[in-house]
Amino acid sequence: MKFGTKAVHAGVEPDPLTGAVMTPIYQTSTYAQESPSKHKGYGYARGANPTRDALQRSIAALENGQFGLCFSSGMGATDAVIKLLSPGDEVITSNDLYGGSYRMFRKVFEKYGIKFHFIDLTNAENIKPLINERTKLMWLETPSNPLMRIIDIKACAAIAKQNNILVAVDNTFASPYLQNPLALGADIVMHSVTKYLGGHSDVIMGALVVNDQKLRDELFFILNSCGAVPSPNDCFLVLRGIKTLQLRMQRHCSNGKQIAEFLAAHPKVGKVYWPGFPNHPNHDVAKQQMNDFGGMLSFTLKDDSQAKANKLMETVHLFTLAESLGGVESLINHPASMTHASIPKEERIKNGLSDSLIRLSVGIEDIEDLIEDLTTALNGV
Ligand SMILES: *Cc1c(COP(=O)(O)O)cnc(C)c1O
Repeated sequence: MKFGTKAVHAGVEPDPLTGAVMTPIYQTSTYAQESPSKHKGYGYARGANPTRDALQRSIAALENGQFGLCFSSGMGATDAVIKLLSPGDEVITSNDLYGGSYRMFRKVFEKYGIKFHFIDLTNAENIKPLINERTKLMWLETPSNPLMRIIDIKACAAIAKQNNILVAVDNTFASPYLQNPLALGADIVMHSVTKYLGGHSDVIMGALVVNDQKLRDELFFILNSCGAVPSPNDCFLVLRGIKTLQLRMQRHCSNGKQIAEFLAAHPKVGKVYWPGFPNHPNHDVAKQQMNDFGGMLSFTLKDDSQAKANKLMETVHLFTLAESLGGVESLINHPASMTHASIPKEERIKNGLSDSLIRLSVGIEDIEDLIEDLTTALNGV
């Protein structure tokens, strides 16, 4: 099946009891057993729930993977991956990570003796000098947040394979429509389902997809033991959201492209970060490993002042000033004071996150209205 067909059909069967075409919300915490431990495959709902099962099959199919596991949030999914490690183990990751991942790695897991190397992964060669016998995991995020830096997943995975290192990719920004990391050599794909997969800004959820049964079992053991499971009601909402994933992504991509081009030509705009520009660093890698360039982009003002950036963000009407991304509605945000506020200022500036940097999650509205909104706001600064 091709992508749009899978988005509508994969993992979903009419309900065996009633024929209901849409997967029912199995709102139950437990299941009746015929005799002790003899049941229909469902014992207690932390372990399994039919609504969640359907969603896990659907997300696995979208990533061309064997097994999906859903979590109560993207961070819950990431947490489970790091819990595969033991004290003394080392992780190689990028210096341009989602703020929440950076915070969890530094403030939670360093305390448990896991060592993280935050480096520039836009050149895979940078990995080699850091590898030693304790290196167990590479955590990649591409395109990165908020500078849309592109990491060559295939090149990183090739180095990892030679050294027995697991590769996990946070595929949230791309969504499975744009990029399938398992096919590029990754072992684990992570999604903040909250974003494009859910698509309607009404659910917090995470997911992992893997091909290896043993890895799936280890991750399921952590999921069931630590308990970061999603609710059946939220699983239903995401099953519904996924049906339009292809249509939404196509519009996100075409709107994103037009806004990137509009901003790049605007006299008040400084830099525009969008992987579709031929002069964007690693554009060729993006072109190879992604099907299109997405609806996420960032830009700075020529006059790099936070006051002017604030004015712009207060003036827009259609772009809602809010954290998060990937919903049908356009959002605008200020990484330095919002999503990346937990990164120390010197570190932030050093990594190119300047004070006037503004990030857009371009929605699926009519492009003329979005451009008019930005034009008015830019005229006002
Ligand atoms: C939002 C996000 C996360 C965290 O996911 P939650 O669902 O908010 O816990 C992780 N990585 C990226 C790239 C994100 O955008």
